Amino acid sequence: MTDRVKMELKYFCEALPKIELHAHLNGSVSPQTLKKLQKLKSNGDNSASMPDMEKFTTLKECFQMFNLVHSLTDTPEAVFLATHDVIQEFHDDNVIYLELRSTPRSIKDQMTKEEYIEAIIKAIEACKCKTPGILVKLLISVNRKEGFTNAEENIKLAVKYHRQYPMIIVGIDLSGDPTEGEAYINLLQNCRDEGLKIAAHCAEVPNEEEVVDILNFKPDRLGHCTNIHPNLKGTQKIYRMLLDSRIPVELCLTSNLKCKTVASITEHQFPYFYKEKHPVCISTDDKGVFSTSLSAEFQLAGKNFGLDNNELKNLSLSAVEYSFATNEEKCKLTEKIKLFSPCSNTCD
Ligand SMILES: [Zn+2]
Repeated sequence: MTDRVKMELKYFCEALPKIELHAHLNGSVSPQTLKKLQKLKSNGDNSASMPDMEKFTTLKECFQMFNLVHSLTDTPEAVFLATHDVIQEFHDDNVIYLELRSTPRSIKDQMTKEEYIEAIIKAIEACKCKTPGILVKLLISVNRKEGFTNAEENIKLAVKYHRQYPMIIVGIDLSGDPTEGEAYINLLQNCRDEGLKIAAHCAEVPNEEEVVDILNFKPDRLGHCTNIHPNLKGTQKIYRMLLDSRIPVELCLTSNLKCKTVASITEHQFPYFYKEKHPVCISTDDKGVFSTSLSAEFQLAGKNFGLDNNELKNLSLSAVEYSFATNEEKCKLTEKIKLFSPCSNTCD
């Protein structure tokens, strides 16, 4: 790829209206916002030292960053600031629809789970006026590793806030081992009956049984699906099951590379699914921790999998269909992407 082609691809991906369907709130916080959060925590004292997060390369350093973000988003004020900035940054990257996901957290004497969720909702509503070009929704995360009580609590909160804010709280993000008994399935079924959608992390490590259970539950979307193809430590049985399910898969290239769940970009699952015309979308996962952006992820896909501008635009268009937006919202988003003309943005 020549420098000129690379530049054209960069401009195209930056200008393209994009749809982000897999973004964890805390992992999306940028180094700039972390500095603001640290200042907020230290009551304006700017002297505390900050690690140079942009230079983080190892997984250990990335996880240190997760811990740092968590320690700094421990009040409703900090959660509001983090959410506000994350939305602003996605907006600046020409993301027109964003589904954030986050696990409700309570911090003793500082914040309840309710206050955590309400701070995010408040930030989403504040951004509606400030950055009307981006539509934002929230999925409540449930990690089964945190136990049944936590899952039950988070799911109850999701239902409660979905009833109150049906246009904002639209789904559940599920992670952890799904083979933990029927009780979880019943909880999730309640969510479905309430109109909440379900996105489930799937096959981040090889585990045929887990994949079978998840696919049998039929979530509305799947995250990663790394170890499903037989060449990628999966099996023919679950690969076939996934293709037959037609459940859209959220693919996060940089995240998988930095977490080393795939050895190199050429060994990523993207081309396998794409070749089979299985529904996929490109997402960031944790743009702050992994120093990426949705434009950068589109560029990676374009460059490494040989996608032309039309194919990249089609990825953006089909992601609208897989989103948890209403039909009316989907029509407006589709219109915006269809109107985008690559030539006016990339040609001389
Ligand atoms: Zn994720």
